[in-house]
Amino acid sequence: MGRHIYVHNPFCVRKCPYCGFFSVTDRSLAEKYYEAAVKEALFWSEYGKSFIHTDDKGPDTVYFGGGTPSCVPEKLVCGLLETIAGSFGIGKDSEITLEVNPASFTPEKGKAYLSSGFNRLSMGVQSLDDSVLKTLGRLHDSKGALKALDAAFEAGFANVSADFITGVPGQDLEGVLNDLQKVLDKGVKHISTYSLMIEEDTPFYDKYSNTIEDLVSPDAERGMYHEVRRFLQGKGVIPYEISNSAVPGFESRHNTSYWDGCDYYAIGAGAHGFLNSVRFGHDEDIVSYISFASNINKDDVGKIFSPECMNIDGFIYFEERLTLEDRMREYPFLKLRTSKGIDTAEFKQRFGRDFEEVYKEELRSNIEKGYLKSEGQNIFLTKSGLDFANLVMEDFL
Ligand code: SF4
Repeated sequence: MGRHIYVHNPFCVRKCPYCGFFSVTDRSLAEKYYEAAVKEALFWSEYGKSFIHTDDKGPDTVYFGGGTPSCVPEKLVCGLLETIAGSFGIGKDSEITLEVNPASFTPEKGKAYLSSGFNRLSMGVQSLDDSVLKTLGRLHDSKGALKALDAAFEAGFANVSADFITGVPGQDLEGVLNDLQKVLDKGVKHISTYSLMIEEDTPFYDKYSNTIEDLVSPDAERGMYHEVRRFLQGKGVIPYEISNSAVPGFESRHNTSYWDGCDYYAIGAGAHGFLNSVRFGHDEDIVSYISFASNINKDDVGKIFSPECMNIDGFIYFEERLTLEDRMREYPFLKLRTSKGIDTAEFKQRFGRDFEEVYKEELRSNIEKGYLKSEGQNIFLTKSGLDFANLVMEDFL
């Protein structure tokens, strides 16, 4: 089990009308934010080792997500990665991902990212249909997205992922498959497809919460989901998780670490981490984050992860210590997201109990309904189980 680091960049150029993520459009504090994040990275590299049980090699994966990391000056992002690399030590085989958006990605930035150590880009393409992009309120058009992908490959990135959104009003299956083909033709090796979610407190909620099922029927949305997976599979881009597909060998190691229940550090406002069975979340307040992280020091070690799991105002807003029983309950929840599903031998090794015994009823009823299938030592969602994934997973919690 290696080490993993998640860094949250909360800045975006403009708020997309469907977005429920933590992000802000005022970038005036970006420089101070990254200075604070550098301090937090140094803090974890110095004192974090006492919280986790791993060998001493550098992090296996680093992931800069957002928000839009490419919308702040590249020197901030690259500087933080260089601090992480220098303080934690990054192995030569580490996977180091940066989320970027076509509208703020340039060939110059691509080169700077690559030379500072990033070796994987995740590009927020979302669609190559200009009317769909307009509906989504994105800043780029299809031409800009394809140009940004060209720039990524020209800069020297061999490992590029593209994000797409499905189930958008006005979108059709043929168009989505054409879009996927175009990015595969460019050399993209990993594709994430997310179904549009109508989140509360977003402009999309006001606009679509009562009408979305008339505009995109749940059957049509599910049909599109399965057709997309079938199409990608046929192209050798194998679905390995509910929303993710990859050419074998290009699966996201960082995201896989979440589903494997690995430890991971979290740096930045709003970032969530998991260290030595403690799950924690940073406050979503940039000013407080800057003020706390800028002065973080050895004295804070005892406050973070105190036995009482006390929150730290403005820095950590929740902490939850998981017992072995909690982790056992969480195992199927995380693993059922993946195509390999639950590994009963691994379960026995981790928790000392037989999966089939602990979850006898849940297993029986979901297999009877046709939502789960067992093959050898693995238990995974069937095609119809994928349509009820949340319900099935909740059954095991
Ligand atoms: S770019 Fe991404 S994080 Fe930023 S507002 Fe749009 S969807 Fe949200």
